[in-house]
Amino acid sequence: MIELKSPAEIERMRTTGQFVARILSELGELAAVGVNLLDLEHHVRNRIRERGARSCYWDYAPSFGSGPFRNVTCLSVNDAVLHGLPHDYALRDGDILSMDLAVEIDGWVADSARTVIVGTPAEDDLRLLRATEEALTAGIEAARPDNRLGDVSAAIEAVATGYGYPINTEFGGHGLGRTMHEDPHVPNKGRAGRGLKLRPGMTLALEPWLARTTDRIVFDPDGWTLRSADGSRTAHSEHTIAITEDGPLVLTERRPHHAASA
Ligand code: MG
Ligand code: MG
Repeated sequence: MIELKSPAEIERMRTTGQFVARILSELGELAAVGVNLLDLEHHVRNRIRERGARSCYWDYAPSFGSGPFRNVTCLSVNDAVLHGLPHDYALRDGDILSMDLAVEIDGWVADSARTVIVGTPAEDDLRLLRATEEALTAGIEAARPDNRLGDVSAAIEAVATGYGYPINTEFGGHGLGRTMHEDPHVPNKGRAGRGLKLRPGMTLALEPWLARTTDRIVFDPDGWTLRSADGSRTAHSEHTIAITEDGPLVLTERRPHHAASA
C-alpha cells in the first residue's frame, strides 16, 4: 500500500531530511586520510543522541543480513557499495567512500547517501561518482505527477548506460515515510511510460548505485557488506524526495552552509 502524505507531513519529513543532510555534510568534512570508519560511526551516534532522533538502522534485521545491525551508518569503501558495516579501518588516500544514513524524528523518516573520494581522486572514480550523481538528478527530475515509476527508473538507467556502466536491479530505491522501507520498490532500470502513476504526496528514496564493470554483487563474510562481484569500485547516491503538484521536492538536500554551521 502506498500512503500519500499531506503537505504538513512532507514538511515533517523535511525536518528529518535536513538533519540527515547536515550529518552527511559533516561526514564529508570528516572523511580524510587516516580517519577511522568507527570515528565516523561514533560521530553520527552522538549527533543522533543529541537530537533525540532514532536510527532506522540500529536493530534492523532484514532477511538477507546476519542481523540485527548494531550501527547507525552504512560505510562502504571501494568495492563495497551497500550496507557496509562500519569497522576498524583507517581511510587511505584515494579511497572511495559511500555513506548511507536513515533516521526518524518524531515518527518521520528520511534516508540519504553520498559518496566521497578521500584524498587524491583517481579519474575513473570521479567519473563513476559523477555518473551516480547525474543518474540521481535525472531520476529526481522524472519524479513528477502524471509521470510513471518507469520514467524514474528509465531516467536513472539512461545516465548509467550513457556512461557505459552496468546496472544491478536487486537493490534500488523505495517508498518511505513512517518507516524506512515502504512501497513501491524503485528499480534503477526500467521502461519509460510503464508502471505506477506518480501522484502528489508520494515520498520516495531514489538511490542509483553503480559498480564500474559488473552488475553482480556478493556478500562479504561479515554478513552485511555487499561488494561488487569483480572487485571493481563502486558509488552510491541517494535522496529522499516528495512528489508535489509543482514537481519533485528534495527533502535531504545538502546546503553549503551546513558544514560551516554544524
Ligand atoms: Mg539509504
Ligand atoms: Mg534507501
